[in-house]
Amino acid sequence: MSLLYSKSADYDEKRFEDYEKYRAKRPDKTPEEIVAHVEHAKDYANEKYFIDEYFERYEAYRAKNPDKTLAQVVQAVNTNIDRPYYTGVVTTDMSKGYQIMVNKYYKLPDDYSTKLESLSGYGNGYLEPTAAAAFKKMVEAGREAGVNLRSLSPYRSHSLQVWQYQVWVDAHGQEMADRESARPGHSEHETGYTLDINTAVEEAHFERTAEYKWLMENCWKYGFILRYPENMEYITGYVFEPWHYRYVGPEHAEKIMKSGLTFEEYYAYYINNPDYPETGGPVE
Ligand SMILES: [Zn+2]
Repeated sequence: MSLLYSKSADYDEKRFEDYEKYRAKRPDKTPEEIVAHVEHAKDYANEKYFIDEYFERYEAYRAKNPDKTLAQVVQAVNTNIDRPYYTGVVTTDMSKGYQIMVNKYYKLPDDYSTKLESLSGYGNGYLEPTAAAAFKKMVEAGREAGVNLRSLSPYRSHSLQVWQYQVWVDAHGQEMADRESARPGHSEHETGYTLDINTAVEEAHFERTAEYKWLMENCWKYGFILRYPENMEYITGYVFEPWHYRYVGPEHAEKIMKSGLTFEEYYAYYINNPDYPETGGPVE
């Protein structure tokens, strides 16, 4: 028996390597905690997106939701939906650059500002310069392929978002406002990395157009992702918005669009994984 783990009643010689692996990752844990963790966490051995750091939250959520699969438990906690919207809000980690998360749990810093470039000739408004250049390239490639893309609603200033949210609150109350609009600081449109293309109403059925089909096949090449996919409302907090695209850079956009993960799931594991603080995510 290993002396290091000898005090733990659950010590299992066969798991020695797992203990050592976890010990290397979490040098702050005692040998007893390491053994306890590995013994419990073995249920999750087949869960690709398991993150050690969230183990207690997985177990708490699992206890409250015995009908959920382990994959659903991991997905829920990784994306914070084990908590009600707008609780435990944190200021988003700006060091993530084009991969920053802005949603109902992550807000922009109060003093956020960005450089902007006009989309004149490509539709309305402004985007952050790299996102703007990428959008223009995408529009031109679309033109060659016979599809017509234009910016309908890109960057929105913080003060405009404050005003817009308040209009909803005044007219319909906060609950309805939270369903239809983002709270100030929580709208992706404030980042300068996001825009609505061609339309922004469900009745237009953008998802039935050649433009949408082309975007699904090509948007990632220009660094954009479909941000609020169909049937993923329970993760993203937004109904399917076939017109809403977010710039994350081509490398991550390709992985996201091809994996079928929401940005929330991708961000948790590949961008913000606390088990891999140096790299920001495991190397594939
Ligand atoms: Zn939008």
